[in-house]
Amino acid sequence: MTNLPLTPVNPDAPARRAAMPPRHLADFDLAGRQALAEELGEPRFRARQVSTHYFGRLVRDPEQMTDLPSATREKLAGQLLPTLLTPVRELACDDGATHKALWRLHDGSLVESVLMGYPDRVTVCLSSQAGCGMACPFCATGQAGLTRNLSTAEIVDQAVYLAGVAASGAVAGSPPRLSRVVFMGMGEPLANYNRVVAAIRRLVAPAPEGLGLSQRHITVSTVGLVPAIRRLASEDLPVTLALSLHAPDDELRDELVPVNQRWKVSEVLEAAWEYAAHTRRRVSIEYAMIKDVNDQPWRADLLGRLLAGRLAHVNLIPLNPTPGSRWDASPKPVEREFVRRLRAAGVSTTVRDTRGREIDGACGQLAAAEGQ
Ligand code: SAH
Repeated sequence: MTNLPLTPVNPDAPARRAAMPPRHLADFDLAGRQALAEELGEPRFRARQVSTHYFGRLVRDPEQMTDLPSATREKLAGQLLPTLLTPVRELACDDGATHKALWRLHDGSLVESVLMGYPDRVTVCLSSQAGCGMACPFCATGQAGLTRNLSTAEIVDQAVYLAGVAASGAVAGSPPRLSRVVFMGMGEPLANYNRVVAAIRRLVAPAPEGLGLSQRHITVSTVGLVPAIRRLASEDLPVTLALSLHAPDDELRDELVPVNQRWKVSEVLEAAWEYAAHTRRRVSIEYAMIKDVNDQPWRADLLGRLLAGRLAHVNLIPLNPTPGSRWDASPKPVEREFVRRLRAAGVSTTVRDTRGREIDGACGQLAAAEGQ
């Protein structure tokens, strides 16, 4: 029925160890930063001062840190806040409500983040890896393969930087405070588990230790790495889990989400229900609607049977065709029928908005090819 490539994948393959960035304040909790300050021959309280600038005031320019002795300002900021992300391009669309940033990392890798404003909230979509090793054939990032894991601070700094953009009032029609984070940019967050979990801890810790976001407002999206989902459930960190399902049957999911060759639909859903039971949080089931591939009424009915009665919500994503893709988004009437059948099965279902399309900032379009 489909002729998608069957891509073998090894989710446990380590990213190259080379080329990790310099250490940064956001790599450490407050106690770690205090130890670092001492190591640099500074009093421990400097850690809190610099943290207050970075996380509390979203300031990274040493000139503005006037409570630090001018003689050590540059040195301290240089040591604790080395530049991790150099903006290469910043684009806005949707009348200023969506901003995409393309960053160059210290080793030349490129990653992207997207800031999305709504009347009641501002959401940032973060990258967790440079590239991705999961090889989903409909996803632009998946085509290029994995370059490396991002460090904790490289992940956090995307949020802090874009929180600063929001605070400057640049997101049209939205409150100035960043309120939500979704790990739906480049990369598979659960394949960079320790750094992503540390980044989440920074995002939720109150200032000056962190950005002070609510755990409830953080979403980790995964292809379905079952052991990592179980491990995440055991952390004291009830963030929302989004599972990229995209097909209710193994035959098709083996192709659309190749990691399914390792963990089948039944196994990944079992892990998702355990996560929901443990955290009491509804799992978001992500499903890209691909014309004539996964959008048939029978698949809606099968999905409905798998999800009925579960703590789940379906998020249908109109496919964003990647450059040269032979797939297209499902026609709207097909999408409406899919929604109708899921709802008839008692499954709560919404269709994701398609922010950032004009600037290649929509789901699955983050390819980070400069000048594309
Ligand atoms: N690796 C993680 C997070 C990154 S992608 C994951 O797979 O969940 C975030 C979401 O966008 C995933 O649900 C992914 O399947 C979806 N996506 C990827 N490419 C897409 C495309 N071309 N159109 C629509 N959604 C896409």
